[in-house]
Amino acid sequence: MLTGRYSLIRSQYLQLKRQLPWAYVSLAFSTFALAFLHRDAAPHLIGRTLPLLLVAAALARAAYWFNSRSSEVAGDEEAKRRLLTISVLGPFIGMAFTLWALILSDFSGGVNHGYVTVYIALALFGTLVCLLHVPRAAVATCVAVLGPLVCHTLVAGHFAETAMAFNMALVAGIVTWVLADSQRVFAELVHSQHKLADKRRVAGKLNDENLRLALTDHLTAMPNRRAFQRKLREMLEARQTTDQSPFCVAMLDLDQFKPVNDSYGHVVGDKVLVEIARRLMARSNSALFVSRLGGDEFGILFDGPQPLAERAIVELSKDIRQPVDIHDHQLRIGCSVGMAVYPDAGVVAETLFDRSDYALYHGKSTSRGSCVVFAEEHELAVRHAQRIESALQSADLERELTVHFQPIYDARTMSVTSVEALARWHSPTLGAVDTEKMIQAAERSGKINEITLHLFSKALIAFHKLPKEISLSFNLSAEDIASTTTVRELIAMVVATRLPPQRFIFEVTETSLVRDLDSAREVLGRLRTLGMRVALDDFGTGYSSLGTLHDLPLDIVKVDRSFAEGMASKSGRQIVSAIRNLAQSLGLECTMEGIESEAQLVETSLIGYRYAQGFLLGRPMPIDELLSALPQSLGAPLPKALGRRTPA
Ligand code: C2E
Ligand code: CA
Ligand code: CA
Repeated sequence: MLTGRYSLIRSQYLQLKRQLPWAYVSLAFSTFALAFLHRDAAPHLIGRTLPLLLVAAALARAAYWFNSRSSEVAGDEEAKRRLLTISVLGPFIGMAFTLWALILSDFSGGVNHGYVTVYIALALFGTLVCLLHVPRAAVATCVAVLGPLVCHTLVAGHFAETAMAFNMALVAGIVTWVLADSQRVFAELVHSQHKLADKRRVAGKLNDENLRLALTDHLTAMPNRRAFQRKLREMLEARQTTDQSPFCVAMLDLDQFKPVNDSYGHVVGDKVLVEIARRLMARSNSALFVSRLGGDEFGILFDGPQPLAERAIVELSKDIRQPVDIHDHQLRIGCSVGMAVYPDAGVVAETLFDRSDYALYHGKSTSRGSCVVFAEEHELAVRHAQRIESALQSADLERELTVHFQPIYDARTMSVTSVEALARWHSPTLGAVDTEKMIQAAERSGKINEITLHLFSKALIAFHKLPKEISLSFNLSAEDIASTTTVRELIAMVVATRLPPQRFIFEVTETSLVRDLDSAREVLGRLRTLGMRVALDDFGTGYSSLGTLHDLPLDIVKVDRSFAEGMASKSGRQIVSAIRNLAQSLGLECTMEGIESEAQLVETSLIGYRYAQGFLLGRPMPIDELLSALPQSLGAPLPKALGRRTPA
């Protein structure tokens, strides 16, 4: 409200400033005309000197107001002060001119005498119109002009003129009232305009606030994924003009965050994220933009060349590695970073984003805790993956896909208890394609369900040839578990074999479970209810501890082959033993994968692993090859029975 009132004053002043000079010009002109008519009738002082001074004063005021039209008013206070001056000066000036005119009228006669009254009336109404926005000044001017006029006519006994003066007073009163009314309307107009402007300002502020919230991560209060994408777009747009200088897009992923979340709970996990976000934000500056992309992944934009970006990332990583105090615990978290440099790695947002993500993913699997920059070799790998994907699209799956089988031994009896079906793809254009790469391409392109069903049907044909003591282990992807149709088909195929369901083991990885834990639990539960078994594959490569998986319907834990390699050291053996104890407490059997040496096999069975699998015991091979080796190995104490190694 206060703003509105003061701004009204300013508006009134600004209006007045535009009109006042013209009022003075007209007053000067009328004064000159009146004086000219009386130039010979009145004495020199009254007829020439005084009007000359008055005309000069009026013109000076007119010039002053003309000049001040271009100058700004400093503020409401100044406008208020100036309006007050006008309100005081106006009546005085009006009175001065009226008094002069009245004195002059004593020397005039006839038409000239009447002209004096007309002059006073013109000057008065002219002033009133100008004082439209200052009603109090208008009233004061009426009194200052009409008062002397009435007194003068009464004293002089010019009663007709007295009546005219009263008539003028009446008209002036009405004019002033009309002016006051229009002033009120003007004030209301200004007020409503200010209210509208205020509303717009509030709406603008709300908009800004909404935008800020939309770009902020709720947990850490740092910029979010949307803000990151926006900033990346801005940086690219800036480069579209003249600036071609490099900048870096990086993804930072916390290394040991998942176990922290699992072991200490989400509340502690959130606190760790907030603390790490605080450290990252502390380093952010005009060249370094940090944001949380989601989960434990952070996005970094560095406006500068690669070496400087790497230096900044080393500093950030150091900060992250500092211990985090949570209650009485000290937690240490590491991080891996993947980076893509504009313009070498790409010139559009999606490419830069994907490539830094690729570099991160690559870094996580090869050199954890480092910063990997997307380079030529990655480019080749991406191209190769794309080639696999497109070849897969046009592949004749029935003809090109085959299944190899790798034996899995019971470590106590050293007999083959099951075989793992492993996909093999010979593409007419690419030749033999690495299985893992093929499966990944199939998962990306949405072809995996179809491939899984082809492979399973091929595996079943071969499986019929195997002795009934041997079970079939078959790998499922996350997309298979997520697809109810695929699961239904798989079950129907198992049922159609009329073989005991216990002879079927489905292998699933932790990543495929954690994506949608509830539906995974439901699917695995269904398989087990039907009598089939479920194995958790590649255990130890993910983030989960066995404890967090305890309520999953599992039968077997297949420990990743990296642990077999680690068994050369004492600590490695201790870990392998700890996993076995934990699995046993959860009622799960253990398989050690990747057994390549006699020493590993001996250790595995000593530690108490039920099953063993690896190149030492037998490589994946076509079913007929396996069958020809089996009769000798079934129940035989020697793994060498399957020693005829075939290429993987
Ligand atoms: P996996 O399920 O862990 O399968 C074991 C992989 O380890 C196989 O690789 C096998 O050849 C290899 N391997 C076995 N013993 C040893 C050893 O002693 N040393 C070494 N270095 N490697 C050994 P492969 O056949 O290339 O398969 C790779 C991965 O592809 C599999 O890992 C599995 O995740 C996936 N995969 C294979 N077949 C299928 C399938 O039919 N469906 C799905 N969804 N995934 C499959
Ligand atoms: Ca497997
Ligand atoms: Ca495995």
